[in-house]
Amino acid sequence: PPPPPAPHLFSDPAEIGALRENLLAWYDRCKRDLPWRTLAATEPDADRRAYAVWVSEIMLQQTQVATVIDYYNRWMQKWPTLQALAQASLEEVNELWAGLGYYSRGKRLQEAAKKVVSELAGQMPRTAEDLQKLLPGVGRYTAGAIASISYGQATGVVDGNVIRVLCRLRCIGADSSSPAVIDRLWDMANRLVDRSRPGDFNQALMELGATVCVPKAPLCGECPVKQHCRARRRKLLGKPTPVPDVEDCGVEGCPLCPPATEPWDSSLGVTNFPRKAAKKQPRAERTATCVLERRGCHGALEYLIVQRPSSGLLAGLWEFPSLQLAQDLQEEKQREVLADHLRVWTGWPVAAGGLQFIGEVIHIFSHIHQTYVVYSLHLDGDVTMDPTLSPSRWVTEEEFHTSAVSTAMKKVL
Ligand code: SF4
Repeated sequence: PPPPPAPHLFSDPAEIGALRENLLAWYDRCKRDLPWRTLAATEPDADRRAYAVWVSEIMLQQTQVATVIDYYNRWMQKWPTLQALAQASLEEVNELWAGLGYYSRGKRLQEAAKKVVSELAGQMPRTAEDLQKLLPGVGRYTAGAIASISYGQATGVVDGNVIRVLCRLRCIGADSSSPAVIDRLWDMANRLVDRSRPGDFNQALMELGATVCVPKAPLCGECPVKQHCRARRRKLLGKPTPVPDVEDCGVEGCPLCPPATEPWDSSLGVTNFPRKAAKKQPRAERTATCVLERRGCHGALEYLIVQRPSSGLLAGLWEFPSLQLAQDLQEEKQREVLADHLRVWTGWPVAAGGLQFIGEVIHIFSHIHQTYVVYSLHLDGDVTMDPTLSPSRWVTEEEFHTSAVSTAMKKVL
């Protein structure tokens, strides 16, 4: 492809130098105190550092920092090294991960730890290229983060925060999820990264996106790189200047400018950038779920949970017996199919009329808008589950909460 138009790039070495300096000085002053940063800064062993960074990066994918901190601390306490994690069972990993969402992340982290121990003699790959090539679940971003923060490789990173900051700094208004834009942003991140402090620089750029250059109301007045920001300049000027190499690209059909059909909207200011193609709507599903309960031998209530298949959504997690429903099924019919399902499962003569409707619970997964239609049923006798079906067990409420169950099931209970 032809080279991109210069106004969207960083080409002046003096400007790049100043941006690095300002950003790093701000980071040194203002960075948040986070457990993985403390570990990465104080751990003398590079491989242990890499493990600490790796765990945090996987947990932070799709999850807020505030939620991750507690999970991260418990994880590192339980498995402080890669070797310890390699010896854990998937059940233990799922139990600790319960509630964090996107469960395949924990599973793949543990598989990768096993691979490092069994196939790579316990040695972490040390470059972004090798990390991405050799470790399952480690993509380009995570590889760049581990290599730069733990091993000092001068390689950039591009995540959602970096996309936002770079698109604003250089008025990139084409679809920021398109391969053409993403490739360009990686080039830019690799060019900008500070050669002597690559890990800090990458963290600073992400921190800026997380705390200052935020999606809705960025704090441009406090921004350490505001003098390099073309979106801000454009906003202050109120219109593009006649000089095309400053705010407006001026190149016809530019692959990085906003599409001609959606030009700059002055009411949005810097939040004109980045732009994304409209997201696909999550698909709607309905699932009938039944909380089966009984009095255990000590008199406490117990609930029946069954294990999900080992692949697919919520793989290997435990749930109340559930059954996906056809859309628009009448309530009476729902009860019948659920009762049939429970009869097969428990061998117990479950009558549709005996199921008590409790209510509905809505849970949004990334691509599914799930409605759980919740029923309950009390059993007085013993139930022998069909061993050829999924594994199952009775748990007290306390045991339920420490089991590998999803947030959706906790809402159901
Ligand atoms: Fe973001 Fe504003 Fe800083 Fe530009 S000046 S990088 S828009 S916070």
